[in-house]
Amino acid sequence: MIDKRMLHSLSVLTSFFILAGCSDNNNEDHTATTGNESAEELPDENSEQSEEIGAEDESPSDDDTSEDVSEEAPDDEGLVDIDFEDDLMEPSSIKALVNKQYGLPEDYAPDDLVTVDVPTVLENPEVRQLREEAADALKEMFDAAQEDELYLHARSGYRSYQTQVQLYNSYVSNHGEEAANRYSAQPGHSEHQTGLGMDVTSESANLQLTEAFGDTPEGKWVEDHAHEFGFIIRYPQGKEEITGYQYEPWHLRYLGEELAAEVYESGLTYEEYLIERGITIEINQ
Ligand SMILES: [Zn+2]
Repeated sequence: MIDKRMLHSLSVLTSFFILAGCSDNNNEDHTATTGNESAEELPDENSEQSEEIGAEDESPSDDDTSEDVSEEAPDDEGLVDIDFEDDLMEPSSIKALVNKQYGLPEDYAPDDLVTVDVPTVLENPEVRQLREEAADALKEMFDAAQEDELYLHARSGYRSYQTQVQLYNSYVSNHGEEAANRYSAQPGHSEHQTGLGMDVTSESANLQLTEAFGDTPEGKWVEDHAHEFGFIIRYPQGKEEITGYQYEPWHLRYLGEELAAEVYESGLTYEEYLIERGITIEINQ
């Protein structure tokens, strides 16, 4: 798989850099692929290094070219397969990438939403839902926390495109657009629309979504254990420039146990992890 990527990487490089400049402004873009079709998987360490390797290998050396290049490519043997189009750009994929650069279609709604079977805070039935697989994992996680005598509460899970429109507009009218964009996704760009995001809290954080949750015993437990159940803390501290969002110790994103564990162990954000895996994505600028 690595070799296959390497083979077409140089030709992709050319088209990527030509097209990349055309897709800067996609804030209004609510489709999953528009503006991003030029991005494809590339080997890690990216273009410069690959090109250097290619140039060096024009002169004979002990190693043959393909071996040399393979050593520079990420060793993703045994890791979860991730395909840019089929996984990251597919709204119904568990691995879907949704952020300020990559959005969901306005009419996308998961077809397997269920009401979560854990303590919840809000009355609105819509936000008490998650996709079935994520809802099951959430329950397992809450049960495990309870065995450690820590009690979690779910606040906000699935949100439809229209709900996000209302939420975002109310934030903008109360706090202004710039402030709103630091903590609220624009419609079509919220992970909550995937049905794979859940905001959790605890009584020790007054059942609110606050940074203080991260310092509570419940918040620390979530930080240490969420990945065991397939969730990651999607907006970690100190990563605002990459994720585009302030620290949100409460916002969990379901990725499945294997991928969540890989991202957790990397110590990276999802975006950084994908780049580390050699997948070319646009990142926050
Ligand atoms: Zn959230």
